[in-house]
Amino acid sequence: PALADLLLSRIRDVPDYPKPGIAFKDITPLLADPEAFTALTDELAAFSLAQGATKVVGLEARGFILAAPVAVRAGMGFVPVRKAGKLPGATLAQAYDLEYGSAEMEIHAEDLSPDDRVLIIDDVLATGGTAEAAIQLIRRTGAQLAGLAVLMELTFLPGRERVTAALGEAPYQALLTV
Ligand code: 5GP
Repeated sequence: PALADLLLSRIRDVPDYPKPGIAFKDITPLLADPEAFTALTDELAAFSLAQGATKVVGLEARGFILAAPVAVRAGMGFVPVRKAGKLPGATLAQAYDLEYGSAEMEIHAEDLSPDDRVLIIDDVLATGGTAEAAIQLIRRTGAQLAGLAVLMELTFLPGRERVTAALGEAPYQALLTV
């Protein structure tokens, strides 16, 4: 459809980034195009509203750029999930595995209540490890999970199976699959 074509046309493949053999999906041309960025924001805001979300959670760092305007457009609050050590207040932390080693992400759990329904947003789903950890983190806050939405899913990796298993009944939406 027209939206998918527009979005796809604004995502650039950068070869050998961040390492030889990896083709990085660069979304900065999309962000720089007001028509594409607005269309993406509107689509994700409509999804958030359809899921009855009350808060939008963005994953550091590109997830912030997508999720914050969605929250404003949909009339919802925005809550960041950050890399360890960046949030000043009391946090809940979730460890997850990387290709080499592991990492931790954190949230200010007090910014969510059990009445909140949380939609998680990120730019790209690859192995699904980041999104899976975010799902586990949101569950541990006691808030409800409204779903996960990503701009682009890389289908040569088993990310979808991983996140749909973690989501259970909550919906998963990828605007583009490549
Ligand atoms: P995963 O945990 O699913 O393997 O990796 C997803 C995370 O890494 C996301 O937070 C995403 O921003 C980042 N990521 C991995 N590959 C790419 C890529 O090709 N392009 C962009 N923009 N982000 C990527």
